[in-house]
Amino acid sequence: MTLLRFAPSPTGALHLGGLRMALFNHLFARKAKGKWILRIEDTDASRMVPGSVEGIQKALEWAGLNYDYGPGVGGPHAPYFQSERLDLYRSYTTKLLTTGHAYRCFCSVDTLTQVREKLARTGSNSTYDRRCLHLTEEEVARRVRAGEKHIIRLNTSGVFARRPVIDLVFGGLKDAHGSLSTDPVLLKTDGYPTYHLANVVDDHTMGITHVLRGEEWITSLPLHLDIYSALGVEPPQYAHIPILVNPDGTKMSKRNGDVKVADYIARGWEKDAVLNWLALSGWGAQHEQQVVDDSVTERTVKTAPDSTKVMNIDQLISEFDIAA
Ligand code: GLU
Repeated sequence: MTLLRFAPSPTGALHLGGLRMALFNHLFARKAKGKWILRIEDTDASRMVPGSVEGIQKALEWAGLNYDYGPGVGGPHAPYFQSERLDLYRSYTTKLLTTGHAYRCFCSVDTLTQVREKLARTGSNSTYDRRCLHLTEEEVARRVRAGEKHIIRLNTSGVFARRPVIDLVFGGLKDAHGSLSTDPVLLKTDGYPTYHLANVVDDHTMGITHVLRGEEWITSLPLHLDIYSALGVEPPQYAHIPILVNPDGTKMSKRNGDVKVADYIARGWEKDAVLNWLALSGWGAQHEQQVVDDSVTERTVKTAPDSTKVMNIDQLISEFDIAA
């Protein structure tokens, strides 16, 4: 079964860009007669803003984007919270340690800075010299027993075959691995997973078939595929969606206007108008229609002169085609 997820981090109010991504997940899942789940990516406590989860749920509910229940320990889940799944991420890191696809790194922040600077001086674009990869097993065991703080890194030094990096929207990406830092971090010193590890472990264990997310994550795709290779499991298909931008091409942000969904709700906007505007921004439905007033939003909306009809969600679903 086709299964997608919308995976916001609770770092503030849901913005129009986030709602558009949830909408695309909804349209894709419903068109394929599949499901989508809501996953709250809340493993970075320093970035969390209280009340964001409720705000996200309220905005989705207002828009009529109803997520499905997914399977999980202790019954069906809606939504999933990553902070409740820490043991799972740790068990996956243990697996990777056992197979040699990950290793413990005891380097201090100061050491890492020195290493990075030294490598930069030699013209190398790697960020770490893998010194901890070469520690003996006894040494590692001794330092773990002594309770030394450490992180866990993915071992990318050629022990697994890399997959070609292919995206449903952008196609095959050449030399995509070149931008990866040396042996990215999977587990932090506090035992929390990085976004990359938690994201991959969740997509895998939840059985996600298609990942639809903003284009800003495409630089993470080579690393995510590496983690799948290291785990020896098949990745989902990825579609990175070009994001909404301001008229000057910069990422749509508060500075250039209203971006919070809550503001549109408060002002009494019709949800169908907002959804049509979001759905039709940036992809080629045949019926581009004017559903918002440009003078109010100061954003560009293409207008089909022969129609003023707003599509409802079922019509949007039938129009939706991500990789024609
Ligand atoms: N948690 C990420 C965000 O806040 C989601 C990235 C993804 O969908 O993989 O946008």
